[in-house]
Amino acid sequence: MIYTHKVLLKKSQIIYLIFSLFLFQSPSLSLNPWGFYAHKKINKLAVFTLPPTLSKFYKRHLSKLEEWAVLPDQRRYILDLEAARHYIDLDQYPPNIQNSTWKAALQLIAEDSLQKHGIVPWHIPQVHQRLIHAFNQHDTLQIIKLSAELGHYVADAHVPLHTTSNYDGQKTGQQGLHSFWESRIPELLGESLDDWIGPAEYVDNPQQSAWNWVLKAHQLVPSLLKKEQELNQITPESKKYSIEKKGKSLIKTYSKTYSLAYHKSLNQQIENQYKSAIQHLGDLLLTAWILGGQSDFK
Ligand SMILES: [Zn+2]
Repeated sequence: MIYTHKVLLKKSQIIYLIFSLFLFQSPSLSLNPWGFYAHKKINKLAVFTLPPTLSKFYKRHLSKLEEWAVLPDQRRYILDLEAARHYIDLDQYPPNIQNSTWKAALQLIAEDSLQKHGIVPWHIPQVHQRLIHAFNQHDTLQIIKLSAELGHYVADAHVPLHTTSNYDGQKTGQQGLHSFWESRIPELLGESLDDWIGPAEYVDNPQQSAWNWVLKAHQLVPSLLKKEQELNQITPESKKYSIEKKGKSLIKTYSKTYSLAYHKSLNQQIENQYKSAIQHLGDLLLTAWILGGQSDFK
């Protein structure tokens, strides 16, 4: 999905006409769920939750683990089936779908509907199974690739706007909210998001865990919409957006002041979800390694 801010011509037509030629020519900030930045960091930081044998192995391949964190997003443009793996529109599903396995879900809803409304909580355990197999096979390339991709889907499952059909705030007049929450603010926070995260723990039931994550993320949707609406009401348009340089292009984006005010109003919501994603990815990597024979990589 592509998330861009609407270009509002009302406020200052002259400025917008000048800048409209340049806006969003560098779409990296707004095109990628959690942004390239956050996806890469989540994958990297998860390695530091692992026991020494396993973290040493991943550290040797850290650059690929980060680089491939964004492969699933890149694949969306060439593989039709890919998009649905990144989200679940929980508001489009009956409540009895929650906590189901893929097999049970198929008994309740036709597969084309599932593909339409998103499948992230079912896709995570599938990738996890493949990762266990790769560990069993001592297939380093596949272990790194699948770990990187698993990290991507786990991260997406922690983004509240990946759990609703109002995924960009478009149904509540808040278009652009998606990349605001998951790209703009994490990039502004930078290193301050990094914090010590506890050691990874074994996961008994990855399917159930994936459901827990998306259901928890979904509970955060009303507050993140409301907080932005409240802030929008008290902020003049001229203070809400700014034009910034991104690479060689100029982009229109939420102003720093507006972004940080929104972040503050969310009361640690973004940090908490970011840290949970790192922790939960670490847990799944540890679990796959254990179930895949606990190799010492010698
Ligand atoms: Zn994604």
